Amino acid sequence: MIENVKELLQRGVKSSMKGGFCRFCSTPLYHTFVNLGMSPLCESYVNEEQLNQMEPFYPLHVYVCDQCFLVQLEEFVSPEEIFSEYAYFSSYADSWLQHAKKYTDLMVERFQLDEHSHVVEVASNDGYLLQYFVEKGIPSLGIEPAANVAQVAIDKGVPTRIEFFGVESARKLAAEGLAADLLVGNNVLAQVPDLNYFVAGMKILLKPNGIITMEFPHLMCLVRENQFDTIYHEHFSYFSLITAGKIFAAHGLTLFDVEELPTHGGSLRIFGRHNDDLSKPINGRVTTLRTREQQSGVTDMTYYSAFSEQVKETKRKLLAFLIQAKREGKSIAGYGAPGKGNTLLNYCGIQTDFLDFTVDRNPYKQGKFLPGTHIPIHHPDKIRETQPDYVLILPWNFKDEIMEQEAYIRSWGGQFVVPIPEVKVFS
Ligand SMILES: [Zn+2]
Repeated sequence: MIENVKELLQRGVKSSMKGGFCRFCSTPLYHTFVNLGMSPLCESYVNEEQLNQMEPFYPLHVYVCDQCFLVQLEEFVSPEEIFSEYAYFSSYADSWLQHAKKYTDLMVERFQLDEHSHVVEVASNDGYLLQYFVEKGIPSLGIEPAANVAQVAIDKGVPTRIEFFGVESARKLAAEGLAADLLVGNNVLAQVPDLNYFVAGMKILLKPNGIITMEFPHLMCLVRENQFDTIYHEHFSYFSLITAGKIFAAHGLTLFDVEELPTHGGSLRIFGRHNDDLSKPINGRVTTLRTREQQSGVTDMTYYSAFSEQVKETKRKLLAFLIQAKREGKSIAGYGAPGKGNTLLNYCGIQTDFLDFTVDRNPYKQGKFLPGTHIPIHHPDKIRETQPDYVLILPWNFKDEIMEQEAYIRSWGGQFVVPIPEVKVFS
């Protein structure tokens, strides 16, 4: 494949390509999936004293590879810059904790994990998941590059190494006898700039009969449900099952099962094993979902080229709603300060002219301002104090949980608004 690229470059192809090379198969990228313009890093919350300073903006232009159909963003900022001090603590979302607990029970039962097993989680965050394995007395190890987040896990009693995962890290851990019976990676695959180096590392760290499970947002849901706000600089890749299968296959790993999950607006949980581990036959669900993806058009370039217009129309509808509400003299507050909210607000140009403020349960974000739009972030009590007419829910994947928690806004006639898949008012 690399030879191919060199040939193409010699033939002068570089001048007509726009997005660099595919991070999996090295094919030059020509095709736009969606262009969301310039945007700041979505987890770079702004302090009060930084409000008058320059803020870096980077292109949020997503391409699709016409060979392997990997949807991807060029790497403008190194993971070191993004993840060494990360503001995202998984444990602040109750439903995510329930999801993690349920997963633990399922895995322990299905694969008979016990005190002789070893569970390794890559990008283990604040120990939101491994704490449940530790509770059951199953030896566990987290690998997490963000030191501030890893420390929370360590304080909870979840052994955690502060480092980036890849071939080098896997070799070192395997040499220490820390290979995995269960190797978990949730919402990390999208965030890996060097996919091949990462998946090759998983192959090394997996015991001969071990199981890999990984969860990531499903590209088919992103397209169908219009979830363009899940695109941000920290997410380099967006996967279908078909493309994920190709990537794992290139590293000697077979996907033997898949589950569709409602998390993050529709995710996949894939189950991988070594090619030669025939003790785990390939489940019919894998074939069924591949067929469904093919029928939806995942292996057809027209599927990808139609997405841009859908995104523009969503922006127009959301702005039309907000303009109308402001003309009627209504007040609007946000709920949540998630990464996806920042993509949405920056792309749509929504600032304090529409949203007075937003609130978040994470104390790390309170008192700061959203990147780019500089909307202030307060404690959730601010909603009760100010009684806004509308509350725009930015983390729409938690909308049921939030509408239940904040149901009291109805006492003053407040209504919830969800922006994705298209603007909708819940009265
Ligand atoms: Zn490719």
